[in-house]
Amino acid sequence: FFSSLLVVRFADVILPIPLNGLFTYEIPPNLEEVENGMRVIVPFGHKKVYTAIVYQIHRSEPQNYRVKPIFECLDLQPIISPTQFSLWEWISTYYCCGLGDVMNAALPSALKLSSQTKIHKIPSDDPISILTEKEQMVMNALENKSELTYHDVSNLLPKTSVFPVINALISKNIIGTYEELTEKYKPKRQRMVMLASPLIANTDLRQRAPKQWQLLQHFVQLSNEKSSSEISVQSLLRHSNSKHACLNALIKKGIFKTFEKEVSRLYEVGKYSPLPLTLSPQQELAHGALKNCLVTKNVVLFHGVTSSGKTEVLIQLIKEVIENHQQVLYLLPEIALTTQLIRRLRQHFGDSIAVYHSKFSNNERMEIWNEVKNTNRFSVVLGTRSALFLPFKQLGLIVIDEEHEITFKQHHSVPKYNARDTAIKYAQIHDAKVVLASATPSLESYYNAQSKKYGLVELNERYGGVKLPEIDIVDIKYWTHRKLMKGAFSPILLDHINEALKNNKQVILFQNRRGFAPLNMCGFCGFTTQCVSCDVSLTYHKNQDVLKCHYCGHTEPISKNCRSCGSNEMNVKGYGTEKIEEELQPFFPSSKISRLDLDTTKKKNAYDQIITDFENGTIDILIGTQMITKGLDFKNVSLVGIINADGVLNFPDFRSFERSFQLMSQVAGRAGRKGKQGKVIIQTYSADHDIIQAVQNNDFSAMYRLQMAERKAFNYPPFCKLISISVKHKNLDLTNQAARDLAIHLRATFQEQVLGPEYPAVSRIKNRFIKKILLKIGPGVSLNKSKSYVMNVIQSLNQSKPFRAVHFEIDVDPI
Ligand code: ADP
Ligand code: ZN
Ligand code: ZN
Repeated sequence: FFSSLLVVRFADVILPIPLNGLFTYEIPPNLEEVENGMRVIVPFGHKKVYTAIVYQIHRSEPQNYRVKPIFECLDLQPIISPTQFSLWEWISTYYCCGLGDVMNAALPSALKLSSQTKIHKIPSDDPISILTEKEQMVMNALENKSELTYHDVSNLLPKTSVFPVINALISKNIIGTYEELTEKYKPKRQRMVMLASPLIANTDLRQRAPKQWQLLQHFVQLSNEKSSSEISVQSLLRHSNSKHACLNALIKKGIFKTFEKEVSRLYEVGKYSPLPLTLSPQQELAHGALKNCLVTKNVVLFHGVTSSGKTEVLIQLIKEVIENHQQVLYLLPEIALTTQLIRRLRQHFGDSIAVYHSKFSNNERMEIWNEVKNTNRFSVVLGTRSALFLPFKQLGLIVIDEEHEITFKQHHSVPKYNARDTAIKYAQIHDAKVVLASATPSLESYYNAQSKKYGLVELNERYGGVKLPEIDIVDIKYWTHRKLMKGAFSPILLDHINEALKNNKQVILFQNRRGFAPLNMCGFCGFTTQCVSCDVSLTYHKNQDVLKCHYCGHTEPISKNCRSCGSNEMNVKGYGTEKIEEELQPFFPSSKISRLDLDTTKKKNAYDQIITDFENGTIDILIGTQMITKGLDFKNVSLVGIINADGVLNFPDFRSFERSFQLMSQVAGRAGRKGKQGKVIIQTYSADHDIIQAVQNNDFSAMYRLQMAERKAFNYPPFCKLISISVKHKNLDLTNQAARDLAIHLRATFQEQVLGPEYPAVSRIKNRFIKKILLKIGPGVSLNKSKSYVMNVIQSLNQSKPFRAVHFEIDVDPI
């Protein structure tokens, strides 16, 4: 009697919903194989059912409510490891979000299941058990429809809790829940062809069936190339330009046989011979220093000027980690960068390297997830921030390339994590090392290196002794005054483009806005067309001939007539990449000009195509947004032009100078990477600006000194931590009131360390008003205690009646 009582076990699970905390369910006797890290299906609320993850199992029954049972267990093995859980937990605590939010971000969608779980009838010869009326209704519905979602069932049975009904039917063994989650992932199968018996000289075939003979030749050739005895039917037919009938004839003759095989969806290199790697003496020194530093430090900042060959040094380091049978994660801030880098890395690591980012299909991502978890197929994963969530077993090193990039921070959705900082934590959990690489490190990282928290290795010379580009500043005011600007282009810039093209060199132009023109303005009354649901002006996209909101995606047709004064003086103003492209073309009619921005890279392979075309010289001039500023390595670019530096410089943010320096130095770094020294032209209204000067002199330390002095004087990171809280609601008054109340509560504890509330630069998005409060946490103050305090204040505000629907969003280390 007692022992049976003791056996009751409970599972605390993570639900994929934005609520804090864990949820407890009973583990029914038939599911005793449930373990931590497995997925289970659980009921939630009245009608919902979720896939949850078991976080911990215990025997203490919750006292104040009745515990519901777990419906089903979906896994035979845990899919989340203890190290992954540690990471999830850290993210949840550090970034003040629920474990469910982390789960949502971390699990590939092939592993997620929601109320969409389907039930289906199990065909059976057993005599039908006796059904209740409600059970019968469900079975009747299953006669007409082969599958029903939990949601369908609850529509069928209004005012009933559907789970007991479904559960009863499951236990009577007449329905099943549709597809285990893993079956959302289907391995890919391919038809293969191979020789049925060893090939013998068949002169007969050559004369009597030349097409078949040809097909055979192609088979032999492919098979040699790939050093494999089996070739996919598809590639054989494509390669030899043959018909199915031709292949079938050869199968009939007993020359070939075919079979099905599970194949990878991922790109495969096949046979390759690793590229020899010879480091220059400076690189050799840097490599030695890195290894040395990593003995005593967990994190090392690798600061090397653009094109110094940081990547080559890193490749050498990675090789050594792999030889040690450990895995390597190589993080990049942007998908656009994976294209080139993967090609370079494959020359060294062949098929043992995988790429992982959001443009891959669910199935492809699932395949990588499974391989990283269960096999040794990949020793290196190259990816963007979501790759952090892969189930590594033996992580030895994380490389964070372009560590200064703000795109490492996910700032649009929860969890608002910074992949760089999270990776450092993840490495610590794995007892792995971290290398942060950049030509323009973030102030935070450089400060950490200066204060010896991180190691520091510097590489101050370009590979091959190539000189850093010469940077010319063009004062737009001067040329405008003399009426010599040709649209957005100064005569100097045009001359240099002309010269570069004449020398068969390529040109990169940077403009920080996409679309055609960022403003649609009335020349008579100054009215600008704003988004209906956001507080921003609409950008004109000429390609689609619409006005578009870059915040919510709203589009509307463009019209000549002013909505405010009625005159027909509405005109588009300003320069986006599209307009730069259009206006540049007439100056260079025979040159091929292309764009690299969000609009031209929507499709999966678009990046690849544009970057490859530029590498091949099919494109002469490439215009782009910040996408082209980072890490790309083109050999033939002699000129980089920055159309207007002011847009970046004047951004209202304490980081804007640091960021301008990084952006301009990085884009400048694309010029003259091989051979002759390159040229950079920066057009600006603020030619005397300290930051422009620092960029021109390639003087990172000048920028560092200047900015650190300011950060210190005004108390900004790295001298304190920031927590930003956005208050959002559809009603402006309510938003203001909630923000005011929040600020009062916070000031009671943090006094003058609370800034705001203020309207952010864009103070309404998707019809919700936004007010922001910034909280500075000084070095002597506990970050964790401060966060709990903030969360408590928010919770109590949310519980008070007027503010129940107000949204408070915490952002730790906002960017
Ligand atoms: P960074 O990452 O510092 O900007 P890269 O690693 O991209 O620099 O190197 C710049 C260019 O110089 C690349 O085209 C690279 O192939 C070449 N390079 C650098 N180091 C070597 C080396 N040791 N051997 C051959 N080529 C090198
Ligand atoms: Zn008007
Ligand atoms: Zn909008």
